[in-house]
Amino acid sequence: MQYWKKINFDEQRQLITDALSKNIDYQKIITLGVPGSKLDGQVFYDQATFLKEAPFLQSIVQNPNHIGCHTLGDSEPYFAGTQEIEREVIKILSEDILKAESSSCDGYIATGGTEANIQACWMYRNLFTQEYNARLDEILLIASEDTHYSVHKASNLLQIDFLSIPVHMENRAIVSSELENLVAQAKQDGKKYAIVISNVGTTMFGSVDNPDEYAAVLAKHGFLFKIHMDAAFGGFIYPIVQRDNNIGFDNPHVSSVTLDAHKMLQAPYGTGVFLSRKGLIQHVLTKEAKYVNGMDITLSGSRSGANAIAVWMILQTYGPHGWLEKLNTLLYRTTVCCTDLDQLGIRYYRNPQMNIITIRASDIPSSLVQEFGLVPDSHGDSSQWYKIVVMDHVQIDVLKQFTEKLSAVSK
Ligand SMILES: *Cc1c(COP(=O)(O)O)cnc(C)c1O
Repeated sequence: MQYWKKINFDEQRQLITDALSKNIDYQKIITLGVPGSKLDGQVFYDQATFLKEAPFLQSIVQNPNHIGCHTLGDSEPYFAGTQEIEREVIKILSEDILKAESSSCDGYIATGGTEANIQACWMYRNLFTQEYNARLDEILLIASEDTHYSVHKASNLLQIDFLSIPVHMENRAIVSSELENLVAQAKQDGKKYAIVISNVGTTMFGSVDNPDEYAAVLAKHGFLFKIHMDAAFGGFIYPIVQRDNNIGFDNPHVSSVTLDAHKMLQAPYGTGVFLSRKGLIQHVLTKEAKYVNGMDITLSGSRSGANAIAVWMILQTYGPHGWLEKLNTLLYRTTVCCTDLDQLGIRYYRNPQMNIITIRASDIPSSLVQEFGLVPDSHGDSSQWYKIVVMDHVQIDVLKQFTEKLSAVSK
């Protein structure tokens, strides 16, 4: 861990204050042309003394705009101080957590996992059309049936066909024979290029796909392909509790990754993360974006720099050891609940490195689903599964109440 370290609150506050002081101060510097300012002073009082003790709120009030991407080329000079904090977040995630070589990745804080996934698909679609003269109907978007629906949005927006790969009912792993058949069929139908979305923790199950399996089948059938990891849910868990893994940048097949700090990290909404190996993100350069200093290569335009600060603060408050300790608590609670379910003979899916328990709908009465707020795989009559996500607030005593009630009704 080179960038991820535990930093106490006073030191954090000092570093953030320094960063904010390197951003533009609209009061002191004449800027007639920038269509931005600090938050409206009539509404958001910026002289409150408690703001000095609250660096995140202070950065909200100062309202830095992190438009663009700050890991390559020029950036808006007005917000150079806090852009540096965002660069550090990108380094912590790509290098310390996902094992990239030093300075080998680009990245930015996106609105969420949806944007980061669409950004990836957009980037690879353009790579194939620009570098290989691919036609849209020669490009395929491939992902498992458990994949998040944002990937279907990407298929629709970018007008590329989606190929859904079935998974096994029990272990949620891709059905290898189906992958093989469907890819062979797509090849026959004229597809030559593939964009793969490989999951690191599916939303419903927490299941983790094997990117090497996709790579082997696509290479065998002569596809040109790129693999993006959707770690929106699992990115702050799986690669940390399972250091020996093939989902990071030390795997040459992995080209880009989505993470979502507003899920497990409990950051404010608007803190998705897009990471990619260098040399790729240029494919989504919008040449017409001439009023922005530097290259506009992100799907979102203006975005708050305070979001990067929030992610940075959470990571640096825990540090790698503190965060692992917290994750181990969540995994411990998950295991305790699974052991109880085993004793009751209730069927469920759980990845041992993840904090999601997905229970067969037919094994659980709907009264308990209501009472404990379990989430179905499909809202409507056809739910096959209900999930428990063991977050910070899901403590063992509530899980015990749940399994005790379940035991009473299953007798
Ligand atoms: C939540 C989630 C997304 C979408 O993220 P948003 O932040 O809601 O846009 C994408 N993929 C997975 C696996 C997710 O769990």
